[in-house]
Amino acid sequence: MKEVKTPRKPLAIYYALVLLMLLLLNFVLLPWMGERQIKEVDYGTFMTMTEEKNIGRVDIESNQIIFTDKDETQVYKTGLMNDTGLTERLYDAGATFSSEIVEQSSPVLSFLIWFVLPIILFSAIGNQMNKKLMEKAGGGPGSMMFGGMGKSNAKVYVQSTAGIRFADVAGEDEAKENLQEVVNYLHDPSKYESIGAKMPKGILLVGPPGTGKTMLAKAVAGESNVPFFSMSGSEFVEMFVGMGASKVRDLFKQAKEKAPCIVFIDEIDAIGKKRDGQIGGNDEREQTLNQLLTEMDGFGTNSGVIILAATNRADILDKALMRAGRFDRQIEVGLPDVKERAEIFDVHLRNIKLDPNLDRDFLAKQTPGFSGADIANVCNEAALIAARHDKKFVGREDFLSAIDRIVGGLERRNMIITPEEKRLIAYHEAGHATVSWILEYANPLIKVTIIPRGRALGAAWYLPEERQVTTREQIMDDIASTLGGRAAEKLVFDTLGSGALNDLEVATKKAYSMVAYLGMSDKVGNMSYYDSSGQGEMALTKPYSEQTAELIDKEVKRLLDDAFALATKVLREHRDGFTQLAELLLEKEVVFSEDLERIFGKRIKDIKREQAEAAAAA
Ligand code: ADP
Repeated sequence: MKEVKTPRKPLAIYYALVLLMLLLLNFVLLPWMGERQIKEVDYGTFMTMTEEKNIGRVDIESNQIIFTDKDETQVYKTGLMNDTGLTERLYDAGATFSSEIVEQSSPVLSFLIWFVLPIILFSAIGNQMNKKLMEKAGGGPGSMMFGGMGKSNAKVYVQSTAGIRFADVAGEDEAKENLQEVVNYLHDPSKYESIGAKMPKGILLVGPPGTGKTMLAKAVAGESNVPFFSMSGSEFVEMFVGMGASKVRDLFKQAKEKAPCIVFIDEIDAIGKKRDGQIGGNDEREQTLNQLLTEMDGFGTNSGVIILAATNRADILDKALMRAGRFDRQIEVGLPDVKERAEIFDVHLRNIKLDPNLDRDFLAKQTPGFSGADIANVCNEAALIAARHDKKFVGREDFLSAIDRIVGGLERRNMIITPEEKRLIAYHEAGHATVSWILEYANPLIKVTIIPRGRALGAAWYLPEERQVTTREQIMDDIASTLGGRAAEKLVFDTLGSGALNDLEVATKKAYSMVAYLGMSDKVGNMSYYDSSGQGEMALTKPYSEQTAELIDKEVKRLLDDAFALATKVLREHRDGFTQLAELLLEKEVVFSEDLERIFGKRIKDIKREQAEAAAAA
């Protein structure tokens, strides 16, 4: 479905070409044509013609004489002679003296070349440009002046059976179940009509980028065998003022003609953001949004046109969009959990020659927080890495490199790091790893590296547990592991490095949310100053007093101090293991959870889980 675009020639090249043509015409073609018109004769012929009074115009130049016959049908030239009385004889012969015989011989041609041709050429270029602009703006070929303005370029991307099916979208079972109803409806709208059921006109797919919203919309069209119109919200508003609204109008006109069908509007937030009533707001966007609302209200409930729209921020959409009869149904399309990630890996590993020892569950575990698009990316990147190393199969190492690259950017192995810095980084990362391994409620660690990538000098990767409720203990242990790097620097080198900026930011935010949002500090109590409506009215004035603000600050600081002390305590108590880990990191640069298990033994949580499982089995 990618459009292949021919590379666009810059305008300057067109103009340069035209100029070159004109110069060629003037300096080569015209003189050549002029030469051909002039007939060279000997001086005798000239004298005879003069005597016979068969001379029209004459131009006596410094080295030649150019002349015409009486009727000026032919131009002649001859050499110059020392001929006294020539002027009188010519005069007697009735000749007129003129200096522009050759130039005047083709006035029409000159006019054509210097005036008419440029106009034709430049207007041709102009037309071409116009066409391109219109195509880009969504008008298709046509002149701006003749009604091409504002036609939509909504395209029928998926038609009839060639489409994507639900089976191609891994996971997302709830969303698929919800959308199945739309498919049933599109198969037979009259069935719904006759029983008096109304299908929602608009359905909003809400979720982070790359989670398969577009795929789901296409799958609905594919499953129902109906045309699929697609357009992105940002496309509506990017071009000319006033274009957005007419594009919307045109899109719906096309859709109604092709009903039953699916209209998919990606990034609807680009047009559907809350109208904040600010003076000098975005008129273009508002006009486009109004047109969309009008169109949605305009067609009947069971017209067979279903509008699916995607956004990652339903909370910033204008309430008018969500009113009954518009996008009154929302479907959440979330980031995949570990099981769904394994399924998505299955889909994208289909065409990859995989190392038979590698299983998708391992890959799913290594990719917490990845979207479907990220996973597709990992698979492709891993295959590229394997190909680069002339491998027959794509293996574990290729996938781990691909994952690292996608999370942290390219390896920067040639970055200059002094041995002292490297030691500091290794102990810092080992600090994170040790604290998170020992503390019961911290997120388990997957791997630690000190290979610089992107902006990070090293990294410890945790596997966030798939949990819906987070307790105070869990957050505290997470903060302690986050501060574990800095605690290690202080403990081992008695210094503080600048590399902990990001850790501090993360830890501070977590502590702040514990105190101000989650009511997890006894001193502040069961209060939350979080405004979930996001309306911003409360943001103007803090909803709490100065004393409370002070208390919040104090509590946040206390929590961070406690977490730091906890991290330091863990490192002290496991100093041997911690040092061993840091030295291993310095040696190998990458360390996995298996290495940690070897050094520290099993995690408390795993031991407890195994005990519980054994007890249940007994
Ligand atoms: P969105 O519209 O939510 O931003 P897309 O539908 O465009 O995401 O997904 C981008 C790509 O990511 C797809 O082309 C597909 O390769 C991959 N992808 C995303 N989610 C899934 C999924 N659930 N199953 C399989 N592939 C997926």
